[in-house]
Amino acid sequence: MRTTAAPLVLVPEVLPPDWLASVHAAADVGAFELRDDLDAVLGLELETRRRVVGLLTLLTRPVDAALLDAFPELRVVSNMAVGFDNVDVPACTARSIRVGNTPGVLTDATADLAMALLLSAARNLPAASLDAREGRWQTWSPTGWLGLELRGATLGVVGLGKIGLAVAQRARAFGMDILYTRRSDAPAPPELGATRVELDALLARADVVSLHVPLRPDTRHLIDAAALGRMKPSALLVNTARGDVVDQVALQAALEAGQIAGAALDVTSPEPLPPEHPLYQTPGCFIVPHIGSATRATRRRMAELACANLLAGVRGEALPHAVNGPI
Ligand code: NAP
Repeated sequence: MRTTAAPLVLVPEVLPPDWLASVHAAADVGAFELRDDLDAVLGLELETRRRVVGLLTLLTRPVDAALLDAFPELRVVSNMAVGFDNVDVPACTARSIRVGNTPGVLTDATADLAMALLLSAARNLPAASLDAREGRWQTWSPTGWLGLELRGATLGVVGLGKIGLAVAQRARAFGMDILYTRRSDAPAPPELGATRVELDALLARADVVSLHVPLRPDTRHLIDAAALGRMKPSALLVNTARGDVVDQVALQAALEAGQIAGAALDVTSPEPLPPEHPLYQTPGCFIVPHIGSATRATRRRMAELACANLLAGVRGEALPHAVNGPI
């Protein structure tokens, strides 16, 4: 930890210092490295909190009115994620605090992970790997571990934004047909050959449904019991968006009842999902620990962009990627 007499920004101490080089090099602001938990933040002395003009936050840090009120001079909250459902943006705006996020730099990494989950679910990789390790692989079996052939199968992309599009492009290369929904009327690139449909039709027709909407009030539990009930019994659900986009209780029931065939989840509610949670034991379901953007190159780029947002906000300039504004 180092402090200076200059205004301060709080940065999570878990971030490697070289990812934060621009902040550490800034002459007009000091970096105060802190554990990413509320006790640590609120445990700072008032004198220190009064000097804090910027917060670099991770998606694990809820940023609510109480937290904002602890920093009367705060000018910017820079979230190291594209999603900002952990930040009370209206509360920030009401206090003239800019909010930044990190879109674009994580698109390919997250789309790669969604495709990895899709492939793993389609070809039963988690269960097949376990069978091999635990001695259930007795011989080459013509009917063993049969999965979904991607060529000619249909992918339903819920939310054809940056990541949804990148997943669709990857799936096209595997020979899949693409259906999609999105909020606006913006068309898909023609070369994708994708068809826009209503959500109900997408759910009914897709062999794999992949979720890419942000978590907002209108997308919370978008995939509920009724939505799952519209899917094919052979269909697979891939979630790299946010856990609360899916009603997990309904998902577990749908898997147990054979209403859908499988689910591959990078995100859950809560995170981490406790090891005793029944979804881990639910046939057809597998879970990875929110690693969508977890490549070395992407995480560094996310941190660097978060630093650029942070420094711009501290200096009263427009953020490279702002969530609210103009302020
Ligand atoms: P984006 O470019 O803003 O795309 C979001 C898409 O969702 C847009 O196409 C938007 O439609 C659509 N949408 C919003 N509300 C909708 C609704 N109610 N129904 C249907 N479509 C809706 O964002 P992105 O960069 O692709 O990121 C998407 C989300 O992925 C993030 O918000 C984040 O939660 C999640 N994410 C997760 C990871 C991970 O590690 N697992 C990593 C990165 C991001 P329009 O285009 O018409 O506005």
